[in-house]
Parts: sequence; structure tokens; C-alpha cells
Amino acid sequence: TIYLDYQAATPIDPRVLAGMTDAFRRNFANPHATDHFLGRLANDAIEHAAIAIANCVGAFAEDIVFTSGATEANALALTSARSECGFDRHPTIVTCGGDHKSVIDQAHHFGLNVRTIELDSNGAPDIDHASQIIDGETALVSVIGVNNENGAITDLASIGAICAETGTLFHADLSQSLSSVPIDIEAANLSYATLSSQKAYGPKGIGALVVDPKARARLSPLLVGGGQQDGLRGGTMPTELCVGFGIACDLIREERKTESSRLAILRDRLVNGIEAAGWGKLLGDRSNRHPGNALIELFKMSAFDLLSRAQPKIAASTRSSCSSSDEDYSHVLRAMGLGRERAERCVRFSLGRFSDEKQIDEVLATLDGISHDIAERD
Ligand code: PLP
Repeated sequence: TIYLDYQAATPIDPRVLAGMTDAFRRNFANPHATDHFLGRLANDAIEHAAIAIANCVGAFAEDIVFTSGATEANALALTSARSECGFDRHPTIVTCGGDHKSVIDQAHHFGLNVRTIELDSNGAPDIDHASQIIDGETALVSVIGVNNENGAITDLASIGAICAETGTLFHADLSQSLSSVPIDIEAANLSYATLSSQKAYGPKGIGALVVDPKARARLSPLLVGGGQQDGLRGGTMPTELCVGFGIACDLIREERKTESSRLAILRDRLVNGIEAAGWGKLLGDRSNRHPGNALIELFKMSAFDLLSRAQPKIAASTRSSCSSSDEDYSHVLRAMGLGRERAERCVRFSLGRFSDEKQIDEVLATLDGISHDIAERD
């Protein structure tokens, strides 16, 4: 199978796996049992991982709160909106039409009053609209950094500037950004940033919220218990997962720049092949986009039809896998102005570290075969 679903989950990098295997053997002690040497060893391994993660995004190790993944990190960030007014009022949060369900649905779950920034023609939050709806009444702004469906890159610096002017807390979900674009938390004036290991060649089940010390007191823990992580997230920390996430971040810091250029070339090879054959077109711009994302609107078949016929050869996605159980169609494509019929013709190919030219050419050849079958059928 040619795997082109990296935005849903990345395979673990063998170097991460090797480091984790070592941690499973050596760092089994409870990392909070610092009365003894083995506990301290595990604790040091976590500290080392936090440094690696922080270095990747321009933060400090003490700003990292480990979570079970991006969903939990997003939920923790959203507690900052409700804490100011308590539970009986409905503070306002500004999200965007491209946000992940773990932000949008969580905001409703917390009883927040949600205002939504519209998307621009590329599928990123529209900055003019953001400046109209963010105001002194807004408790928190939460936007996606790089979109998981259309790959659009959000102009975080501009939204951060609006938040600075209005004195609003600012959270970005950087799950898809970590492996693909440079991140500077301070320059974007971010109070909180969500990171995910499973989108960055690390293990599943671990993520982090990066917390600006000035905004720390506004958070309330979702899990309480042993008082771990300075009371912000109770529960014994999973040393081996933290270690894996840390190694994944070290690799990203070393390789992101060259890897992003390589991926953009490969992505363009795929898009050019598809467009030249007249099967479909890329939705949105090639610039300001995740270098591995190719969201294609097919002309003559549904994405489901294409992917069913391409099994087991190609693993790609008809929509974000996190919303695949919804009956309705993708809320992101809807926010981009697509009706159901067009949305059903959209397929997301997402490329990553282990994609290569040979695979792309094989995908194009497979699509060619499927198109001929469909043309004959019709
Ligand atoms: N945020 C974004 C942008 C995502 O792409 C995803 C996963 O698809 C999530 C949050 C949720 O991540 P997890 O399921 O690992 O909690």
C-alpha cells in the first residue's frame, strides 16, 4: 500500500521507536518516585523530552504540559475561557470555520458562546473578518495553525496582533504545523499552543499544551489527582511516550526545512500529474499551504468511488478521519463554500517523510487505470 494519509497519522520514525524501546527498558520506574535513583532517571528522561519539544517551537521546557494528545490539549486551552466568568455565564470564544471538531465541539460542550471567523478563498481564517469579530468581550481566540483538510496555513502573527490589541488570550492548534512549518510561539503572541506527537512521526497517545507563563493561571485542570505537572494535569506521566515525542521533535528541528522543500516538490508532481490528465484540480493555493497536502476536487467521480477502486493500493482520505463518523459532510469544506455534491468529489492526499517519487508515479498510474475504467463504464 502507498500511504498518503500522513495528515491523519504519521508512521513512527524508526529512530523514535529505537529511543522508545530503550526507554521502555531503562525508564520503567514511576517518574514521580524521585526518592530513588530509577525514579529520578525516568524524571530526567521526561525533562529531556520537554526541552526537545520546547526547542522545536521557541518555548521553554517548563512551559510544556504533557497531555494524551491534541484533543485533550485543545480542551485544556479552552478551560481558560470559562474560568474567568465561572460556569454559569457564557463567555465568548472566537474560533474559525476550519477549526478541528475537538475545538468547536468542546467549546459548545463547555457552554461557551462561539463566534466563527470565516475562511478566505484559500481556506485559512480571513484576517479582516477576524479583526471585526474579536473584541474586548472575547475571552479566548482559538484557531487552527495548519488545516488538517485543506492544508491552509493561518496567518497567526496577524491574529496574534489583534489579540494583543484587544487583550485577548490566544490559542492555536499546531497539531498539523509541527512537522510542516516553522513555529515561533512568542512572535505570534500565543498564550497556548497545542502539539501532537502522532502527526509528527512520534507515538500516539501523547501531545502537549505549550503555556505562556503569563496565561498559566487562567487554566483549570481537566484531570486532578496526584498533583502532577504542577497540578495542571493529574496522572502518572507516560515516560516512554514523552521520550518518543521528544526524539520526534529533535528530528523535526533538524530536518523540517529540507523535508518541507522535498515534500512540496513531490506534492506538485502529484498535483501536476492529476491536473494535466484532467482528472481534477487542487483546491486552494500552492503557497501558504502544508507542503504535503493535496486536496483535490475530482471532476468525474466521487472520492469514495476513487478510493474504493484504489484499494488496497492507495491509502488516502475522503475527509478528515476525525469527522468520518458524522453523517453530514465536512464542516471545513462547507466553510470553504462547497456544497455536498462538490465536497463528495474531494479527496485528500497527504504526503510525508516516507513518500517518494516512485510512489507518486505509481499513484498517477493507478488513477489513470481507474479513470479509464470509469470512462468505459459511463
Ligand atoms: N487537531 C487537529 C488539527 C488534528 O488534525 C487532530 C487529529 O486529526 C486533532 C486535533 C485531534 O488529535 P488527537 O485525536 O490525537 O487528539
